Amino acid sequence: YLGGNNFQVFSSSMQNLFKFQINVESDLRRALLKNELEVFYQPKIDLRTETITSVEALVRWKHPDKGLITPADFVNIAEETGLITDIGGKVLTIACEQAKEWLDMALGKIKISVNLSAHQLRQPQIFSSIADALEQTQLPPDLLELELTENAVVENIHSTRKLLQKFREQGISLSIDDFGTGYSSFSYLKKLPVDTLKIDRALVREVPDNPQDTAICKAIIVLGQNLNLQVVAEGVENEEQYRYLQDLGCDLVQGFYVSRPMDAEAMTKLLCQQQRKFADQSSI
Ligand code: C2E
Ligand code: MG
Ligand code: MG
Ligand code: MG
Repeated sequence: YLGGNNFQVFSSSMQNLFKFQINVESDLRRALLKNELEVFYQPKIDLRTETITSVEALVRWKHPDKGLITPADFVNIAEETGLITDIGGKVLTIACEQAKEWLDMALGKIKISVNLSAHQLRQPQIFSSIADALEQTQLPPDLLELELTENAVVENIHSTRKLLQKFREQGISLSIDDFGTGYSSFSYLKKLPVDTLKIDRALVREVPDNPQDTAICKAIIVLGQNLNLQVVAEGVENEEQYRYLQDLGCDLVQGFYVSRPMDAEAMTKLLCQQQRKFADQSSI
């Protein structure tokens, strides 16, 4: 008798999933209290000057038993349980503090990008918490960029529009993350004060060999040029992709070819190195 059996299998696997979620949730709560969350940084390279002009903040969980955990293993659960609000708040403050430190070290005009999830965008206090973080860290708002996915933005386009307008008035920049893989039309781009399109790495992976992906990337770059938006390609893993996107007129790239995400100390070292190179060149 299959029915009963199936039901049991289904129900016990549901139960396991549920238990797993509860475990991760309470584990995450502890992580927040014990400061186990760390921010890693990955540079974006301006393809015209070939310098780092911007850095993305990416959360990591330094678990006492399980080691370094990447967002893929906890960001969804954090979203569903609402814990992402506290996690995101923490990441934002740490990232702004770090960017202010780089500014004070005179390492050039380095922007910091912070990811905001759909759940965070729905919080009524999101604007004030970002304004507070800027106030508290004294980071100039034009050095902060928020990365929002297409789906998060379009999900509540009317309320999002007002919110993004307020960010814009503060001088904060806005980037559409994972661009090209959502389900929305382009028309929202004319309604929203967006500065940057960030091409999803799924579309970059097989450039230039895959003619369809390459055509889509080209089209996004032209779209950006005509709408006066910056275009960033994420997930650039080799020199061929780098040069190809550079030739197409893409503005910035981010990816393992240039650098993997790294901790604050390593990122600071890299920015210092770049600054020394500038100083050497200008003294010749
Ligand atoms: P994302 O914002 O699209 O970030 C880019 C992801 O691609 C990062 O993964 C980065 O490590 C990875 N990546 C960068 N270059 C390459 C490459 O050349 N090849 C490949 N295969 N991957 C590359 P990560 O750090 O695991 O983050 C995954 C996602 O988790 C992020 O995607 C973002 O949506 C989310 N996330 C990360 N940090 C935060 C955060 O502080 N708050 C929120 N709400 N979401 C976050
Ligand atoms: Mg991002
Ligand atoms: Mg992305
Ligand atoms: Mg992505």
